[in-house]
Amino acid sequence: MTAAPERPLGDMDPVTFRRAGHELVEWVAQYLAESDHYPILPRLRPGEIRAALPDEAPEEGEPIEAILADFERAIVPGLTHWNHPGFFGYFAISASGPGVLAELLAAALNQQAMLWRTSPAATELEEVVLGWLRSLLRLPPVFEGVIYDTASISSLHALAAAREASVPEIRVRGLPGRDLPPLRVYCSEEAHSSIDKAVMLLGLGQNGLLRIPVDAAFRMRPEALADAVRADRARGVRPVAVVATVGTTSTTSVDPVPAVADICEAERVWLHIDAAYGGPAAMVPDCEWIFDGVARADSVVVNPHKWLFTPFDLSACYCRRMDAVRAAFALTPDYLQTREHGAARNLMDTGIQLGRRFRALKLWFVLRYFGAAGVRRRLADHIQLARRFAAWVDADPDFERLAPVPLSVVCFRAHPRALGDEPRRIDSDGDSVLDALNTELLDRVNASGEVFLSHTRIGNRVALRLAIGHLRTTEVHVARAWVLLRAALHELLTCQNDLA
Ligand code: PLP
Repeated sequence: MTAAPERPLGDMDPVTFRRAGHELVEWVAQYLAESDHYPILPRLRPGEIRAALPDEAPEEGEPIEAILADFERAIVPGLTHWNHPGFFGYFAISASGPGVLAELLAAALNQQAMLWRTSPAATELEEVVLGWLRSLLRLPPVFEGVIYDTASISSLHALAAAREASVPEIRVRGLPGRDLPPLRVYCSEEAHSSIDKAVMLLGLGQNGLLRIPVDAAFRMRPEALADAVRADRARGVRPVAVVATVGTTSTTSVDPVPAVADICEAERVWLHIDAAYGGPAAMVPDCEWIFDGVARADSVVVNPHKWLFTPFDLSACYCRRMDAVRAAFALTPDYLQTREHGAARNLMDTGIQLGRRFRALKLWFVLRYFGAAGVRRRLADHIQLARRFAAWVDADPDFERLAPVPLSVVCFRAHPRALGDEPRRIDSDGDSVLDALNTELLDRVNASGEVFLSHTRIGNRVALRLAIGHLRTTEVHVARAWVLLRAALHELLTCQNDLA
């Protein structure tokens, strides 16, 4: 057997790159157009993908054709299709065409925007595009923006800045062994777990986060917040920050930001707004109210990778006191000093990360391609679809809605009239009969592969969540979800009657 000729050193040759690139663009175009041909959830067991792949990297390079063939054979069957228009789980997201093309460019350009000089374009485009988004959200220019990967990291940085502003010399002296009172951050019972993680990481401990009760519509109760802050001060605890959520994860409830801002101003406490999912809806005329009072906050996070058609990941963090973020994170060793120091923005100063990739490019492509009006129309359409689905639920005596629908998520459950009021019977897992029924219903509907919904708990009841947010989702897909839910419930009830 003759050995394969050795490849020359250096990168893939341009002819091969061009050929494979064309083929891949074809593949992606078809995938995006026909993502509904795949089952949304992969039909395999944990470990199957791993088992189909070799344990060691190849000693010799392989042809790109072999890699692409294995991608189809071994990787595609393990994908969960977030791009499927029937994806209604968690928060539905979109890898839009313009966003995908921008990601291709960003990978090719390989910008590492730690310093202005290591990528003036990435540094300045970030400022420009976050300025556009800021004015679409009607936030004043005093809010300086910075891009992080996820909302979890945005909130971590915002709360680090709040801690910096509240605890003198924290950066030098740290927390332990000092004459400091216990520190406290407040959020509602419905706030995202990323806030717990940020507080844990900032050294406040989980006890440093106090969850404030919510009202019947799952919004933070401002009077309970005011009481909690007052009681903490009385016992020597120092309030550091309040996190209000615009679009909570379970029900998309919107905390009463103006009342919370009043308390934060009176108490001189940092106000952080988590609008990771809900934020973009503030551009829609009917929904402008969700941002009432937000301009009074100290920091705000909005995730274009959730409901602004930008491929994962991109989180925009706005801060009216970016000096506090810089005070927390700026640190310039000799080897990173530049002549522009002080005259230009260096993105490494606004976070823990040194290197940053060129995320602004995809948001720029998305906002230009769809335009503000196009974005608004698409968001408004999703909200309309959610309201239509909610109306179907409300009109069906075998289903009930479990929360208001301020944005594009509907929380509901099956509650067959035949079962009467909340059946009290508890099964061996401690779930109520209705919880067990809804869990089974969800599994059956998701097994169809045509739609995917996720669940949550509302008032200790299992709730199904239908989240609309994909660009290609239309009424056809939402109606199909409803047909599948009703058919699966019918099947389940028939099955139970047959067994009885
Ligand atoms: N905040 C809210 C309200 C969320 O719903 C989520 C995730 O769904 C997050 C924060 C965390 O988002 P990320 O995955 O970008 O960290």
